[in-house]
Formats: sequence, structure tokens, C-alpha cells
Amino acid sequence: MHLLNADLHSHSNVSDGTLTPENLAARAHAGGVELWALTDHDETAGQQRARDAALALGMGYLTGTEISVTFAGETVHIIGLGFDADDEALLAGLAAVRSGRRDRALQMAAGLAQVGIAGAFEGASRYVGNPQLISRTHFARFLVETGVCGDTHEVFRRFLTEGKPGYVPHGWARLGDAVRWITGAGGVAVIAHPARYRFTPIEEYALFTEFIAHGGRGVEVVTGSHSAAEQARYADTAVEFGLLASRGSDFHAPGESRTELGSLPDLAGRLRPVWEALAGRVQRA
Ligand code: AMP
Ligand code: MN
Ligand code: MN
Ligand code: MN
Repeated sequence: MHLLNADLHSHSNVSDGTLTPENLAARAHAGGVELWALTDHDETAGQQRARDAALALGMGYLTGTEISVTFAGETVHIIGLGFDADDEALLAGLAAVRSGRRDRALQMAAGLAQVGIAGAFEGASRYVGNPQLISRTHFARFLVETGVCGDTHEVFRRFLTEGKPGYVPHGWARLGDAVRWITGAGGVAVIAHPARYRFTPIEEYALFTEFIAHGGRGVEVVTGSHSAAEQARYADTAVEFGLLASRGSDFHAPGESRTELGSLPDLAGRLRPVWEALAGRVQRA
């Protein structure tokens, strides 16, 4: 049986990716993707361009975004898929989430200046495609460019994670709000890369049960940041909680991302793919 090559997690230069929505669509198509979603962080400004490019290439398209949430003191990412991109409450919610990023970035730069790294705000800004969406990734690219670190993962480890000089704690959206913005706009909410959170088993259980109580319906099982063991573990979690399963590379940039668009393992046959529940929301030429 041919399983659909769906890639429902990727970033353009409208958030912290480096490719335009059009070039990302072309790369997804070249990678064999048949159903695609652009999921920029806290932002939908690239949706129309991504959709137009996808349809011109003969791919199916689902609207997407990846919302930053603070839950139990940790940052959690919630993917929205198949929503109405003009929904007022969703747009207002995302604008509110974006609004603190500039001040946070200025504080990050101040922290880096204290350890001798000058001009980080201006340096990071050179990589920013959307002034409302300056992120840690842009600082990471600047610190690689200036030779402070060899690659972006090293930057995060040494400078941009909790307890490190460029890290600034931030309050993102509340879980229930993020889920309601998505579902209120007709979309499906999905917990992104669950293996990446440093939760105790009890905290993780709370995340899943509260997410479902708020109306969340999916979990990312196959993603660029999950090992094979983590995919198997969250396949079990999806079945246990009765959640739809999603699949996405989380592609950000050529040479930086470990997983290419469209090149992921298939979802296990016992899982119900999220795109089956979203069949009526898929846009086609
Ligand atoms: P922000 O939303 O500004 O906190 O930035 C979060 C982004 O940083 C994520 O979406 C990833 O693209 C990137 N990121 C987080 N942790 C790492 C890491 N350890 N290595 C490389 N990139 C990371
Ligand atoms: Mn990112
Ligand atoms: Mn993420
Ligand atoms: Mn992502």
C-alpha cells in the first residue's frame, strides 16, 4: 500500500527558517512530499504564499503554525493544522505571542554582551526575515558566522539554554488558549516533538490529559527530532490517549537541519494519521 508522503512541520524565513515559502515548497516537492504544511512559529504571514506555491506544484496543502506555549515552567510547542488562516481570534492570539520577542532578544543580547559577545542583537537581526519573529535560532546563526561556535547546536548548548548567558526565561501562550485558537479556527491541535521536553512522567501525563481536555487531538510521532525509539514510544502514547498521529521533518535550513523535507519514516500502520481527520481541510489545485 502506498502511504501518503505528508510533511506537516517546516519553517520558512517568515519565522526561523532560511528559505522563502516558495523555495521551501519547491524543496518539499523535490523531496517527494505530497501533502505539505508550512508551520512557522507563532505566525501565519507565509500561509498564502506557501499554499499558492504548493498548489502550483501539485501538492496538497494544509494551513499550519507552531505556537509557543509555557506549561509547567517549560516551553512546549503546539502545532495547528487545517485552520482558517483569516480567523480573527487566532490572528490576535498569535500577534500577542509574538509581541514579547523583541524585548526578549534585547535582553538576550545584553546577557551575551556580559560574556564578551558584542552586537548580538544587530548581528542576529541580519538573519531575520520577519521583524516580529526574532528567535534564538537567529542568534545561533550569528554566533556561528562570527566563529564563536562551530554549529548551531553548540550555540544552544553553550549560550542559549537555561542557565546559560544568552538565555532569557519567557512566558509564552497558555496551553488552553493555544489549543482553542486552533480549534476555534476549524483546525486540529497537535503536540509537537514530545520527546524534546524535559518533563517528569507525571508532568508529561498532565500535558497530554490537559491538552485533550482543552480539545487537542494529535501528537507528532514521526519528526526530525525523534529517534526510532522515541517514535515507537510516542506511537504507544498516541494509541493510549486515542490521539491522531502526525509526521513532519521540522526542516529549517539546508545544511543545518538533520532531516530533509519528505524523507521521514512512515507512521506505523496502527496509527490514525492526522491528515485523515483533516481530509476536508486539504487544499488542492
Ligand atoms: P525560540 O522560539 O526563540 O525560543 O527559538 C526556538 C527555536 O530554536 C526552535 O524552534 C528551534 O528551531 C531552535 N532550537 C531549539 N533548541 C535547539 C538546539 N538544541 N539546537 C538547534 N536549534 C535549536
Ligand atoms: Mn524553530
Ligand atoms: Mn518546535
Ligand atoms: Mn518547528
